[in-house]
Amino acid sequence: MIEKIEDIKRIELSQFKFPVNVYLIDDLLIDTGFPRTAKKLLSYLKNKKINKIVNTHGHMDHTGGNSLLQGYFRCRIYHYPAKRSYTVVEKLLFGNLKNFTSETPPEKINTDNYSFEILYTPGHSDDHITLFEKKKRYIFSGDLVLHGEAREVSRDVKIYRAIESLKKLRTLRPEKIFPGHGEIFYGYEVLDEKIGYLEDLGERILRLYEGGKSVKEIVKIVFGGERFPYFFIKGYFSCENLVRSYIKDPKSL
Ligand SMILES: [Zn+2]
Repeated sequence: MIEKIEDIKRIELSQFKFPVNVYLIDDLLIDTGFPRTAKKLLSYLKNKKINKIVNTHGHMDHTGGNSLLQGYFRCRIYHYPAKRSYTVVEKLLFGNLKNFTSETPPEKINTDNYSFEILYTPGHSDDHITLFEKKKRYIFSGDLVLHGEAREVSRDVKIYRAIESLKKLRTLRPEKIFPGHGEIFYGYEVLDEKIGYLEDLGERILRLYEGGKSVKEIVKIVFGGERFPYFFIKGYFSCENLVRSYIKDPKSL
């Protein structure tokens, strides 16, 4: 599925009905989808000119096409920090990621029509960046701003950092937010909603925890239990991860 927003293309790729966005802006590509959707992405991009790729973060649903596209276009790949390793569980879920060379992004990345500031926005993962187009007030926010309410999250999530990063994005007063999954958000009100929701959720979880409830009990009370009971997914992606992340002392993150 391809959607055009002015001259920005949102290319939606899916694996197991789980969609992810790749954005094409002049000769820049933001994220590259799953390893298993790489060929499909390349077949769409074949006649275009791609000189640079930016990964919003290293999760494999955002870096999966890196190797194939770099081989074809001989383009640079920016990822913060330049190198990342993957766990066995990630490889089981997404497939194996083939080699590519990447470098730390510069402070600014320009295309013919746009200029992007690269902002460090950890929380969803430690290696998460956001691209900010100042003139247009557009942000490409990877997985920091997602549709729906936070439930299952990966082990990489540090919730207090995520809330801080969301507040940082709020100060930019973006007009359009281009997320890593799903449709575009118009206006920055969604950031207020997300921040409010995450802060309220945190208060509720901490109250239960201080009242003597265990992590598993809190998962049941707040989320009605885990939806993915399979042990290899649960370790990586669960409500428990989110609850634990709230219980950790924000200063120790
Ligand atoms: Zn992610």
